[in-house]
Amino acid sequence: MGTVTPHTSWHDRAARLRPCADALIDGELVESRSGRRFAKSSPVDGRFLASVAEGDAPDVDAAVSAARRAFEAGVWASTAPRDRRRAMLDWARAIVARREELALLVTLEVGKPIRDALSEVDYTAEVIEFYAEAIDKTYGEIAPSGQDALPLVTREPMGVVGLVIPWNFPLSMAAWKLGPALATGNSAVVKPAEQSPLSALELARLALESDIPPGVLNVVPGFGETAGAALGRHLDVDKVSFTGSSAVGKLFLSYAGESNMKAVSLECGGKSPNIVLADAPDLEAAAAAAAAAVCLNSGQMCNAGSRLLVERSIRDDFAALVAEEMKGWQPGDPLDIETRMGAVVDEIQLGRILDFIAAGVEEGAELRLGGGRALRETGGSYVEPALLTNVDNAMTIACEEIFGPVLATIDVDDPAHAVRVANDSRYGLAAAVWTRDLTRAHRVARALRAGTVYVNCYDTSDINVTFGGYGESGIGVDKSLHAMEKYTRFKTTWIDLQR
Ligand code: NAP
Ligand code: MG
Repeated sequence: MGTVTPHTSWHDRAARLRPCADALIDGELVESRSGRRFAKSSPVDGRFLASVAEGDAPDVDAAVSAARRAFEAGVWASTAPRDRRRAMLDWARAIVARREELALLVTLEVGKPIRDALSEVDYTAEVIEFYAEAIDKTYGEIAPSGQDALPLVTREPMGVVGLVIPWNFPLSMAAWKLGPALATGNSAVVKPAEQSPLSALELARLALESDIPPGVLNVVPGFGETAGAALGRHLDVDKVSFTGSSAVGKLFLSYAGESNMKAVSLECGGKSPNIVLADAPDLEAAAAAAAAAVCLNSGQMCNAGSRLLVERSIRDDFAALVAEEMKGWQPGDPLDIETRMGAVVDEIQLGRILDFIAAGVEEGAELRLGGGRALRETGGSYVEPALLTNVDNAMTIACEEIFGPVLATIDVDDPAHAVRVANDSRYGLAAAVWTRDLTRAHRVARALRAGTVYVNCYDTSDINVTFGGYGESGIGVDKSLHAMEKYTRFKTTWIDLQR
């Protein structure tokens, strides 16, 4: 897709950035009803980025009303599918055209390396494009009920959907939801994470410029406990699709129960096992993937391969290889195009990561590498990747999602033991197995309780496959055409042909 303008000084551009930080309701940029704003600063170097409109229940009300009006008026839901396709394809093109500005916002908001932010923008456009293309290529059904009837099974948009987004991939997580939700004709109210409101607002502004009508896509920045909860409890929201922690995911199930029984889809956390068996086809490649699986995005990935399960016979050699690879992931300036690992999202997250590492050592794990705070002089929030060995699966660092570049290595005796340890988790988002034996690969993949299993790779994917979790990793899937199902409901229309 797009390219980087040569000789761009990301630092100069960052200094000139004046992001939009109002709420976006009914096609207008507006103050919050209370007039309150909150300060958003950057984990890159602590700089102040923007004073953001702090939405709360009245703002959510206004956004939901606007979304409802747009839905009922049919300005989006009832337009010809090909027109919706064109508008969304325009939106995807606008995202590519503004690639560098969007990437800069993401890097400054959440501290990820600019090269990863650029990839995220490209991927976001690709996701929107995928669902745009699908709009006029998905069909209903005629049930085979004999000559006397014509039973139609069709899918209808839900109406108003609330989309609650995390900060780790602020654009692509939004796109995983907005793509299928808008493609199927819904109107949406987005509540971005408090750490990443700016890129979400810019993404939505580009949608408005691309003939997606006012009111169809609204953004209410604010805090989870107020704006997020108001969306979860709203009586006129038909569906909430949430990505974030399992603890907050459970709250959304409660909100639905306390209010209008709205449908709820959840993409939550993980503690994903990456199993390396002694017959792995390429131990160097496995080690590189194991390091990337927990260092990419500073480990702030729901599917991070944070538990490394290694067959005992290769444990020492493999730990040495992984340590070498992890040394190549030292944190650096996120605005330098060469940097592989940037900051973590904020000081709170940094503190949590350091506490988890300390708990691991306290409980008897061996800290083989890193684990300290880094680049303090920048004023930003950085941590060295940490490798812990001799971890027991019952330790805190093997049970809790850390959301940082912290790898817990656990020894296993054989494939069966590996599967038992892998499945001994309340999560089940992703898993991987490395083996050259095809039958063993299939058997292990079948036995793993995880929504995605990687074989001889980690975190390799495409938009056309599902992504979702078992257990407390969630309910429902994002990605692929199946994601469109969760923003629609079935309707049967039974036409009697006897009279
Ligand atoms: P989080 O704290 O659960 O927040 C997610 C979203 O929920 C944010 O918009 C947040 O708003 C909102 N929220 C927080 N408390 C709320 C409450 N009491 N009521 C209603 N809404 C509330 O998660 P995060 O720290 O942003 O993201 C990290 C988590 O996301 C990790 O657990 C990770 O595994 C998960 N994740 C999962 C996937 C997946 O596809 N499975 C993908 C990415 C991330 P505020 O930010 O304003 O509090
Ligand atoms: Mg919060």
